[in-house]
Amino acid sequence: MRLLLLSLTLLLALTQPAQADGLPDLGEAAQGDFSPALEKKIGEAALRDIRLHEPAYLDDPEVNGYLNRIGHNLANQIEIKNQDFEFFALRDSTLNAFAMPGGYIGVHTGLITAAQSESELASVLAHEISHVTQRHLARMVAQQNQGQWVALAALVAAIVAARSNPDAAAGAALAGQASVIQNQLNYSRDFEREADRMGLQLMEKSGYDIRSMAVFFERLQKFGRLYENNAPSYLRTHPMTTERIADMASRIQLRPYRQVPDSLAFTLVRAKLQAADGVAEDMVTDLETQLRERKFKSEAAARYGLARAWLRVKNQKGAETQLAELRRLKVSSPMIETLAAELRTRINDHTGAIRILGDAYARFPEDRAIAYAYVEALLAGQQADEAAKFATDDVAGHTTDFHMRALQAKAYAMQGKPFHQHWAQGEAYALQGQLMPAIEQLQLAQKSPEGDFYEHSQVDARLRALKAQQMEEMKEERQQR
Ligand SMILES: [Zn+2]
Repeated sequence: MRLLLLSLTLLLALTQPAQADGLPDLGEAAQGDFSPALEKKIGEAALRDIRLHEPAYLDDPEVNGYLNRIGHNLANQIEIKNQDFEFFALRDSTLNAFAMPGGYIGVHTGLITAAQSESELASVLAHEISHVTQRHLARMVAQQNQGQWVALAALVAAIVAARSNPDAAAGAALAGQASVIQNQLNYSRDFEREADRMGLQLMEKSGYDIRSMAVFFERLQKFGRLYENNAPSYLRTHPMTTERIADMASRIQLRPYRQVPDSLAFTLVRAKLQAADGVAEDMVTDLETQLRERKFKSEAAARYGLARAWLRVKNQKGAETQLAELRRLKVSSPMIETLAAELRTRINDHTGAIRILGDAYARFPEDRAIAYAYVEALLAGQQADEAAKFATDDVAGHTTDFHMRALQAKAYAMQGKPFHQHWAQGEAYALQGQLMPAIEQLQLAQKSPEGDFYEHSQVDARLRALKAQQMEEMKEERQQR
C-alpha cells in the first residue's frame, strides 16, 4: 500500500511542474477539471504497482484475456471512443469490481464466480465502464473542491486498499492526507444512476440480456442485508438502493425479452476459478456428484473443473479421464488445449505438450495464453532455437507485450546469447515502467561481445533514451523536495 502511495505521489511530482510550497502546480486541475492524459498516467502507475506488489493480482492470461474480450465487447459500443480500457482480475473471494482513472478496471474472482450468467458479469463491467466514460472519479474530486491531483491519486490508492478491507481505506486516507477520501469512496446516487443507465445501454447494444443487471444487483443487495455491516464491498463503493433497483426494473420492463446463452469461455473461466478456490477434495466430490446426477449447467464446464480439481490433488489419471470426456464432447476452446498440454508437461512429455500447443496456435492464433504456453513448452523441451524464433516473430506484432519479451529473453539465455538476452529483458522491464532494472540490463548487453555493430548501436540509442527519461524524473523529483 505504501509503495502504491509513494509511486502515485512521485508520479504527481513528475507530471506537474513544482510550486514553491512543494505542491504540484494544478494548472487545469485547479479549475476543477482533470486531463484524461494525466488520469491515464495515474491509473497506469496504480496498475503497475498492483502487478508488482499486490499478491492477489491474478497473473492468468486466460482469465485476463477473457475479461478483456467481454469488457471490450461492451466498450466497443461507446459512441465516442476516446478511452482505452484494460481489465484485470484479483484473486479475492469478496464480490467486488472497481474502476481506476484511465480505464483500468479490476474484477474480483469472487464476483466472476458469483455471476450466474455471462450477462450478469457483463452488467457489472458495463456499470464500471460507465463510471470511467462519465469520469466520475475526477468529477468527485472536483466536486469536493479539492482540485488536487494528489486527492485523486490518494483516492485511487484508497480504492485499491478498500477492495476487501474497509479499515485499510482509512489508513490510506491518512497517509494520502486527503481527509475527504472516506466519503468519496462511495459514488453519489446521481453517479450510480448515471452508471446504471449508461451501463444498460452498453449491455443492450452489445447483445447481452439487460434483465441480468437488475437480477444480479438485487442478489448483491440481498447478500448485503444478510451480512449487515459486513456487506459485499461492491455495495460499499456502489451504494445499492431500492430506488436504484426499481429505476433499473422500470427501464428494463419496456424492452423485449431476450435469452442470451453464455459463451463457453465464460463457463470454463468460472470453472477454472472455482476449481482453484477452496478445498480441492470437496470440489472433486461436488463435481462428481453433479456429473453423476447430471445436475450441471454445462457438462463441459463441470468436466473441465473436475480435471482442474484433480490436477490440484495431483491425480493425473482422474484429470486425463475428464480430458478424454471433453474430447468426446468435441468442445473447441483454447482453454482445453492448455489443459491438455499441462497434463503432458506434468509427466515430462514436453514433445506431446509442444505438439498440442503448436496445433492449438494454428487454430487460435489470436489467443495470448496459447502463445505463452507454446513458448514455455518449447523452453521446457530445450528447443531454444524454436522458442527464440517464435517469440521474436511474436513480439514484432505485439510490441507492448512484456510477458512475451521476458520469454524471448529466456530463450536467448538458453541459446547462450547474452547480448540478446539482456536486451530483451531490458525491454521487458521498460515496458513495465521499471527504468532502473531496464537500464542495468541494457548496460549488461553493451558489455557483451555478442551482437553486431548495428545491434550494438541500437542498444546504445535505447540506453541513451532510457537514461534521459531517468534523469528527467530525478530532476523533477529533486525540484519537488
Ligand atoms: Zn457504481
